[in-house]
Amino acid sequence: MEPAADACLRCGAPIGLITRVLGEIPVEVPRKGALCPSCYRDLSAEEYASYFKS
Ligand SMILES: [Zn+2]
Repeated sequence: MEPAADACLRCGAPIGLITRVLGEIPVEVPRKGALCPSCYRDLSAEEYASYFKS
């Protein structure tokens, strides 16, 4: 078993479940967590900066 699934930083969706069910790869955010693929695709430039630049 994997460790407890992380929740998406943006929408709170269970990333481990998304990975298993949809076969999509979550996007890791260094030191913060992860985003589900659909949120990653929907990020605005401002949101992207807030997640990936610290
Ligand atoms: Zn999400």
